[in-house]
Amino acid sequence: MKAAVVNEFTKDLEIKEVSVPELEHGEILVKIKATGVCHTDLHCKTGDWPVKPKLPVIPGHEGVGIVEKVADGVKSIKVGDRVGIPWLYSACGECEYCLTGRETLCHDQENGGYSVDGTFAEYCKAPADYVAKIPENVSFEEIAPILCAGVTTYKALKVSSAKPGDWVAIFGIGGLGHIGLQYAKVMGFNVIAVDIHEDKLALAKKLGADKVINSIKADPAQVMKEEVGGVQAAISTAVAKKPFEQAYQSVKRGGTLVAVALPNDELPIPIFDTVLNGVSVKGSIVGTRKDLQEAIDFAAQGKIKANLTVEPLENINDIFDRMEKGKIDGRIVMNLS
Ligand code: NAD
Ligand code: ZN
Ligand code: ZN
Repeated sequence: MKAAVVNEFTKDLEIKEVSVPELEHGEILVKIKATGVCHTDLHCKTGDWPVKPKLPVIPGHEGVGIVEKVADGVKSIKVGDRVGIPWLYSACGECEYCLTGRETLCHDQENGGYSVDGTFAEYCKAPADYVAKIPENVSFEEIAPILCAGVTTYKALKVSSAKPGDWVAIFGIGGLGHIGLQYAKVMGFNVIAVDIHEDKLALAKKLGADKVINSIKADPAQVMKEEVGGVQAAISTAVAKKPFEQAYQSVKRGGTLVAVALPNDELPIPIFDTVLNGVSVKGSIVGTRKDLQEAIDFAAQGKIKANLTVEPLENINDIFDRMEKGKIDGRIVMNLS
């Protein structure tokens, strides 16, 4: 099968023929039809996180397609089903986190396209118990970004504890942010979009953002304090330290900064202000299988639409190049059929 492979950190991915994975007990083989390109895949290529992927690795964790084979022990999925393989590829099912509906915190999880081979390939195998079911009424291309960008931002908004009518800021209107702002609107929040590129802000306006701020031209925290008294929640999806600092400063008393992007950096926080203002800082990592099904349901109802461009797998190195330069409008989805 054809696959895009990271052989060495920072080097271009190689498009090559590799063998179709062999199934083990409880696993299914998926013929991948479409797979979104997440900034996490770029981190996988550059190897810039403290935890490194196994090499060589096939990245990709927004892959959707049709089940072609099922191994022994698979009960919930059958050949011909439409499924998606997410970042939470598997978890132990037995630890305190798994048993309390917090499986994304399981110490024994595998991550698709990172610790195990992912979906930048014609086929990908996965444990049947952890794949998402894809409704019939959505195309593979349009649903792919929901598998990570969708569920991640939906979950981040949930854990922010913001309530309908509250002001919420989304920092970074890229793959995650442009979908996150749509969930935020559907959930009844007033949304402020922050980015450093005018075209991203134009997209945010088109998608219903109530206010947009170019953080090169204005201090977003100051604007938010002046115009809405600060936000109840700031979701940081921008891959740099500065927008995290700005997001922290934008939060009003009693509000929450939800850290989503993963720059390998530190966020210095003033203890005094944090205490006096009762501000929370939370990390949020993808979403559980239940969160994912909810996120997919919103999209299947037509309430969330990724702004996507469909390109072939062969473009992957150029796609990463554009992603690094902030030149992608929404999400790129690679089609494999
Ligand atoms: P992306 O490249 O599509 O989007 C990043 C956006 O941030 C771009 O629009 C860019 O213009 C903007 N940006 C860059 N610098 C900025 C700044 N200084 N201020 C404001 N905006 C700025 O990336 P993505 O696919 O949306 O992923 C974003 C990050 O989220 C990555 O680090 C990725 O690994 C991480 N991620 C985390 C989770 C999780 O579960 N926590 C899940 C998926 C992705
Ligand atoms: Zn992702
Ligand atoms: Zn576990």
